[in-house]
Amino acid sequence: MTQTPLRAVPPASTPEESNVCWHEGNVDREERWRRLAQRGTTIWFTGLSGSGKSTIASAVEEQLIAAGRWAYRLDGDNLRHGVCSDLGFSRDDRSENARRVGELALLFADAGSVALVCLVSPYEADRRHARQLHEQAGLLFVEVFVNTSLTECARRDVKGLYAKARGGALSNLTGVGAPYEPPSAPDVELTEELDVAAAAAAVLEALPAVGC
Ligand code: ADP
Repeated sequence: MTQTPLRAVPPASTPEESNVCWHEGNVDREERWRRLAQRGTTIWFTGLSGSGKSTIASAVEEQLIAAGRWAYRLDGDNLRHGVCSDLGFSRDDRSENARRVGELALLFADAGSVALVCLVSPYEADRRHARQLHEQAGLLFVEVFVNTSLTECARRDVKGLYAKARGGALSNLTGVGAPYEPPSAPDVELTEELDVAAAAAAVLEALPAVGC
């Protein structure tokens, strides 16, 4: 059976140069998904720190799991404990962070999961790259902009970061000392008037049926 390859773009170096090649398995995506009775998808939540990405994604995850779906949250803070623990918050490190999480989400979606990415991901180019990676692989990518204002995020200040920034102890907080580029055409936009349940419902409504 033929299917869209997971990697449309070959690695920069040729297999001859790198001794690395792609090894197809015996089970393809369609069969994997059919046996799971589910289509893999990535839902990518972007927004300022404290905007509600993790909270809303957790509510979505809970509802999908309750409905018998396979969903898994790839939360930026959590991933910085492991796979991204070597990265800081420079421009380059933030992009590398988004690149790695995009690659992880790609694998989860290919495996058949609904990958719920919660990542500030402040740069449009990084998010576009993650979307392209998925689209080239024939995988659905849903960008959710958690559009909570800086004022409201600073009022919540769940992690005390905004207070730190005000006190001068944190110079590169997104939206304060570092840029946040809002998505120009998100698939879903959640405004701060929505409570968590309404926000989760809006995401689930926008999600094409994941069952198959
Ligand atoms: P992020 O993942 O974007 O950094 P979090 O989900 O960790 O944000 O924190 C958001 C905080 O705001 C949580 O403490 C959550 O309970 C609170 N909150 C209040 N109202 C909302 C809402 N409508 N949507 C999401 N979070 C909300």
